[in-house]
Amino acid sequence: MQLSIVIPLLNEEDSLKELHDWIVSVMQANHFSYEILFVDDGSTDASWKIITALSEKNPAVKGIHFLRNFGKSQALHAGFKAVSGDVIITMDADLQDNPEEIPELYNMITNEGYELVSGWKKKRYDSIVFKNTPSKLFNWAARRTSGVRLHDFNCGLKAYAHDVVKNIEVSGEMHRYIPVLAKNAGFSKIGEKVVQHQARKYGKTKFGMERFINGFLDLLTIWFVSRFGKRPMHLFGALGVLMFLIGFGFAIYLGIDKLFINKFGRLITDRPQFYISLIAMVIGTQLFLAGFLGEILIRSKKEEKRYIVSEEINTALLE
Ligand code: UDP
Ligand code: MG
Repeated sequence: MQLSIVIPLLNEEDSLKELHDWIVSVMQANHFSYEILFVDDGSTDASWKIITALSEKNPAVKGIHFLRNFGKSQALHAGFKAVSGDVIITMDADLQDNPEEIPELYNMITNEGYELVSGWKKKRYDSIVFKNTPSKLFNWAARRTSGVRLHDFNCGLKAYAHDVVKNIEVSGEMHRYIPVLAKNAGFSKIGEKVVQHQARKYGKTKFGMERFINGFLDLLTIWFVSRFGKRPMHLFGALGVLMFLIGFGFAIYLGIDKLFINKFGRLITDRPQFYISLIAMVIGTQLFLAGFLGEILIRSKKEEKRYIVSEEINTALLE
């Protein structure tokens, strides 16, 4: 199969049929062998019903239904597990991404040697204050910290070589940083293509202003992870131990000084150095505990289930 199109969605009942028909017309015009995988991230509207109906008419339609809303990253992760095409396309369900871009994206992966191509919505039809400006700032920060030179990290329309999606883990809220995850995994041929951006036709955005706060926190996390390995809290732990040892060493020195050298001098508690060493030991212990807490969080999170699939059409994640 040449193409797998993965579409994460949450309550997009109004656009699904239109989107499906549009994709199919592009696939047929270009004679692609394809599958369309709708990943319903816990919709409460008629989305899943519509996907089921589409699959009855078109056997290339596949579906995964989450038990509840787990987030776009989880939806993409489940989708990546289930697809089998040579090239994987991700796109949003709200008709903001144009299926006509798919043939060229496919071409860039198969013929131009790219492992990942990210859409760049150069011209956007969104609010300048609430979306365009924060998003510019955000993309600048993402470029600076990750070293991945993309203009538009958040664009839902992307194309991947098969190996890329099978070798990365899209956890937490990392869907914005898949190119960074890919780069960290060793896939360095990352490209960009200017794509059209449509204004949302139906419904409204599922991400509010908190996307930028989440986005920056994720960015910080990903930067830390790429700098300090998978265990950034080791840094805090080690810093804590170091600080404690310095304080402890200092206290011992003061004790020896008191016992043997400064015998008839001031009381140890009268010397400011004593308090400095105490403070160092306290801060050191706290830093160590912070690192340890991080360790606990990571270790216990491993057991946590990522997402729960309640129903599926033509895929085999439940087995
Ligand atoms: N989406 C999802 N799970 C969520 C939130 C959003 O699968 O928890 C889907 C949504 O249905 C859409 C895509 O992710 O297909 C992008 O969302 P949206 O259009 O709201 O984001 P924006 O275009 O405003 O960045
Ligand atoms: Mg959208």
